[in-house]
Amino acid sequence: MTRRVLVLGGTGEARRLATALVERGDDVLSSLAGRVADPVLPPGRVRVGGFGGVEGLAQALAEVDAAVDATHPFAAGITANAAAAAATTGTPLLRLQRPGWTAGPGDDWRWVDSLDEAAAAVRAATSVFVTTGRQGLAAFAGLPGAVLVRSVDPPQAPLPARCTVVLARGPFTVEEETALMREHAVDVLVTKDSGGSMTAAKLTAARDLGVPVVLVRRPPLPAGVPVAATVAEALTWIAEKDSRPGGD
Ligand code: NAP
Repeated sequence: MTRRVLVLGGTGEARRLATALVERGDDVLSSLAGRVADPVLPPGRVRVGGFGGVEGLAQALAEVDAAVDATHPFAAGITANAAAAAATTGTPLLRLQRPGWTAGPGDDWRWVDSLDEAAAAVRAATSVFVTTGRQGLAAFAGLPGAVLVRSVDPPQAPLPARCTVVLARGPFTVEEETALMREHAVDVLVTKDSGGSMTAAKLTAARDLGVPVVLVRRPPLPAGVPVAATVAEALTWIAEKDSRPGGD
């Protein structure tokens, strides 16, 4: 049977999931927020832009057999909306979220709960590398030292007074991250706990260079929504959600 699956996307996992679902013949609709000007599109049908809150998302959920919230670990708004909408429609919903990072030998990590806390933690630094994305950069606007910001699209004001912007889309190699941090004499790195291998090279580079890292903790997950850590787990979960009578 052809399953109708809504994938809430904006991540590499969401693209890989959509690719695998299309390959096995499912009817996939991927949803992107529209934050990135030139996104890498997944195969299958794609819609772009918000649903207009829980109610709009519930309408979209009512039209599918299952949904996977494969949005970024820090996209807490859409994740909460998906849980609330699925609770009203009864549509099976899975959260696909890669595991967070854990420190290894040689890592000098400090955990904080928010971007504001991260900014306070690096206030005395002379050259901060901020990799938390272009949303929320206002938290770092008051930093007195040099601030290197990397994002896919140009960030908007307010930005730090001594800000250098690098526009780039990962993944990056350890060599590239090491060279960038050396070039800008970075003395502290700020990152969200995004997890996964795509953006982990900067952590290896920081360890190799002896640069401390400030990590922002993930927001909590909504209660009652099952969680998969890998695309393979999500594929198995979807295959088990055959809600149509007489389906295979
Ligand atoms: P958010 O704060 O959780 O969501 C804010 C609103 O944006 C949602 O209420 C929804 O609007 C809309 N939205 C978010 N994701 C959507 C999606 N996949 N499809 C349709 N509408 C969506 O989201 P965010 O943190 O700004 O992230 C936006 C997108 O960027 C997500 O798709 C996420 O996977 C991706 N992303 C985020 C980060 C990050 O650090 N936050 C990093 C990398 C990628 P309505 O209420 O109108 O439906």
